[in-house]
Amino acid sequence: AKNRGGATYQFFNESMNKNAVRRLQVENQLRHALRNNYLQVHYQPKVSLRTNKFVGLEALVRLEIPDVGIVSPAEFIPMAEETGLIIEVGERVLRQTCRDMREWVEAGAVDGRVAVNLSAKQFLQPDLAKQITTILKEEKLNPTYLELEITEGVVMDDPERAIEIMTELNKLGIHLALDDFGTGYSSLAYLKRFPIQTLKIDKAFIDDINGAERDRNMVASIVAMAHNLGLDVVAEGVVDLEQANTLSNLKCEFAQGYLFAQPLRRDQFLEHISTTLAT
Ligand code: C2E
Ligand code: CA
Ligand code: CA
Ligand code: CA
Repeated sequence: AKNRGGATYQFFNESMNKNAVRRLQVENQLRHALRNNYLQVHYQPKVSLRTNKFVGLEALVRLEIPDVGIVSPAEFIPMAEETGLIIEVGERVLRQTCRDMREWVEAGAVDGRVAVNLSAKQFLQPDLAKQITTILKEEKLNPTYLELEITEGVVMDDPERAIEIMTELNKLGIHLALDDFGTGYSSLAYLKRFPIQTLKIDKAFIDDINGAERDRNMVASIVAMAHNLGLDVVAEGVVDLEQANTLSNLKCEFAQGYLFAQPLRRDQFLEHISTTLAT
């Protein structure tokens, strides 16, 4: 029989309980948040390292609970994915993003594409393209303003099916980006076949791009390969000018990160781009 020494057993049990309680709390908060519209979409600018201009943006969801504060998606997205609530979260985020984008485009404040993150369950919904089409129509946003970000893990799970889904989305005029590139397992054979337009290099490769030659070489290779495949490259998590300069020297044209701006609330975002980054 297993040794259930008092202390260990007790501890294990307690931490399991804590996790279960925490999960239930987050799940309840999420349901409550959906009912009360506590989901907020923040936006982070994407800039061109060549022109230093604003070229697009990424929508990042937040849970803003009164008297509690902001809950990060890193905490509640996995939970939403497990419980299936991600479908509703995703729909709300997409709708709000399309609504905001349409308003900004109409006002002449924003150009380029807005990128929305898709989780595995969302990506694999049988009627995804139809749902997105409906939302775009209802929110009166042209699909050429939309980009969807998916991770390697999501597409490599069933690459053939992923290619079909991506092709369908492409036909609508929506661009696709492979997110967190380099952190999962990607097959070069598939990379060539994926109908994507952009590779986003994970922050992990950017963090020490100046300190570690290995990381710098890796980024150089990714950029060269992406360009050979006709893809745009975006570096994530750029926090200082030195990184931006190195990336620029490596011919990586686009970047996001705190150096330029954190994800901002919609009103702050508009203020930010109109004062600092816009032409
Ligand atoms: P991600 O798609 O890789 O998004 C980039 C994350 O890095 C964001 O975290 C962003 O705030 C953060 N970031 C951007 N620039 C910097 C920087 O210079 N330094 C540092 N340290 N961080 C930076 P966030 O907003 O907490 O989102 C975390 C993850 O949650 C996202 O990673 C994405 O996987 C997921 N997520 C966010 N919004 C959504 C959504 O609407 N739907 C889905 N399915 N997932 C989402
Ligand atoms: Ca992303
Ligand atoms: Ca990413
Ligand atoms: Ca990431």
